[in-house]
Amino acid sequence: MTNFNRIIFIKQSGILATAFAWPFNFNSFIENKGMNDSKQFDVVIIGGSYAGLATAMALGRALRNVLVIDNRKPCNRQTPHSHNFLTQDGKTPKEISTLAKQQVLAYDTITFFDGIATKGLKTRSGFEIHTETGDKFLATKLVFATGIKDVMPEIVRFSECWGISVLHCPYCHGYEVKNEITGILGNGEYGFEFSKLISNWTKELTLFTNGDSTLTSEQKSELEKHSIEIVEKEIKELEHLNGQLKNIIFKDGSKQIVKAIYTRLPFEQNCAIIEQLGCELTEDGYIKIDAFQKTTTRDVCACGDNTTRMRSVANAVAMGTLTGMTVNKELVDERF
Ligand SMILES: Cc1cc2nc3c(=O)[nH]c(=O)nc-3n(C[C@H](O)[C@H](O)[C@H](O)COP(=O)(O)OP(=O)(O)OC[C@H]3O[C@@H](n4cnc5c(N)ncnc54)[C@H](O)[C@@H]3O)c2cc1C
Repeated sequence: MTNFNRIIFIKQSGILATAFAWPFNFNSFIENKGMNDSKQFDVVIIGGSYAGLATAMALGRALRNVLVIDNRKPCNRQTPHSHNFLTQDGKTPKEISTLAKQQVLAYDTITFFDGIATKGLKTRSGFEIHTETGDKFLATKLVFATGIKDVMPEIVRFSECWGISVLHCPYCHGYEVKNEITGILGNGEYGFEFSKLISNWTKELTLFTNGDSTLTSEQKSELEKHSIEIVEKEIKELEHLNGQLKNIIFKDGSKQIVKAIYTRLPFEQNCAIIEQLGCELTEDGYIKIDAFQKTTTRDVCACGDNTTRMRSVANAVAMGTLTGMTVNKELVDERF
């Protein structure tokens, strides 16, 4: 198995430095995580962030032989502090996922592969998953916990502020920027609804439509009633210091002070295998799932941001736990 011996595993997992300082028997954990002779797993989980790790924990504790494939690019990696997840409020995203990974990998039923899953095939008895490095794994069941890719607009320096002062969600970051001079980047129904929502956290609010407004006259007068200004000028650039917004610079050369912006970005699914295996998407582009996280493709479940607009660490963990229980129940029913 190329790229998958013990040392490479530990190095790639980013835990070599902590291996000798870990309070419980970390060395036996290292032994457990060594070379795995078999490439056949009960379940392969693609994506090893909050949703994938929660799935893995439920399945590993159910004595299932689980492989997690992850290339360590969670969507919140640029945000300095994560909020609204009990016991972890204010921690960095990395702190939360590192602790989660340590706890998950303490189970000898769970193996972690650091890399990108690029191809998936349906076989007679399950699935064959290929990685970018040419590794191949077999699985009876498959889980997508692959998150989504936010597509940045063509505004200079926008991506440098993403997750720092350009925000996707008031429940995650609203408290920290309450009463600040805030902008909504949006238009039409969505711009109106987002302005209404954010007016709960600040009254210093402007709606930037970045071009001609598509708001109805009723929406415009509602916003006016609540002193929410509408600015239609096209945006060129964001001026910031270390991701903290200072000004919006418009294409006409003028600028306006803002401390925070909220917006919802368009997105793409992260993983081509979802389509390769024929999982249907919703009209909005999320993986279609039922109440138990099952996709429209047999033996395939999905959880986390790739299935819902309700993006939060807590929700990803909850969906991951449910997915683990669903997949284990299917295996029990099939093998009993
Ligand atoms: C900027 C920002 C800030 C946020 N702040 C907060 C907050 O403060 N509080 C909160 O509760 N929520 C916050 N969220 C939402 C939260 O981060 C997400 O809901 C959560 O990360 C979703 O978890 P997930 O496991 O579904 O996806 P992700 O965390 O995005 O992880 C997906 C994982 O799958 C991997 N992956 C994808 N495709 C492949 C592949 N083909 N092969 C291998 N690996 C693959 C990725 O590398 C990644 O590690 C924030 C989101 C953003 C964008």
